[in-house]
Amino acid sequence: VERTLSIIKPDATARNITGKVNALFEEGGLRIVAQKRLHLTKAMAQQFYAVHAERSFYDELCEYMCSAPVVVQVLEGESAVTRNREIMGATNPANAAEGTVRKAFGLNVQENSVHGSDSPENAAIEISFFFSGIEIA
Ligand code: ATP
Ligand code: MG
Repeated sequence: VERTLSIIKPDATARNITGKVNALFEEGGLRIVAQKRLHLTKAMAQQFYAVHAERSFYDELCEYMCSAPVVVQVLEGESAVTRNREIMGATNPANAAEGTVRKAFGLNVQENSVHGSDSPENAAIEISFFFSGIEIA
C-alpha cells in the first residue's frame, strides 16, 4: 500500500469541519494512519512550500498556512497519492468536480481546504517533515 501526506488547511480548521473532510477521505477508501493538529510557524510554511518559492503567490501562501492551526495527516491506501488528489479535486474549487473536498468546502484558489502530496517521492519527503516512524500506525 501507498501513503501520502495530507494537510487540512487553516480555512477548514477555522470552520471546524475537519471531521467532514476526514469523512470524505475515509469514504474514498483512504485510512488515516497518523494525524496531529499544530500551528505552523512562518519558517515551517516557507520550508514546506520551498518548491513554490519562485511562484508569485508564495509569500501569501506561507502567511495563509500559518494564519490558524492545520491538521497534518498520513493517509494510506491503494494508490494513495493519486486517490487523495481525486478526493481533493482541482486546486481551484471553482473547477473542482462534484463530490470532492474542494468543491464541497474550498473557498478560493488559495483557501482550498486541503493539501496533498503530488508524487510518492514527495509524499515520503513530506511525511518525514512532520512525522517519525512510530507516530504512523
Ligand atoms: P497542494 O499542493 O496544496 O495540494 P495543488 O497541488 O493542487 O495544491 P499547487 O500548484 O501545488 O496546487 O499550489 C499549492 C497551493 O498554493 C494551492 O493548494 C493553493 O493553496 C495555493 N495556490 C495555488 N495557485 C494559487 C494562485 N494562483 N493564487 C493563490 N494561491 C495559489
Ligand atoms: Mg501541490
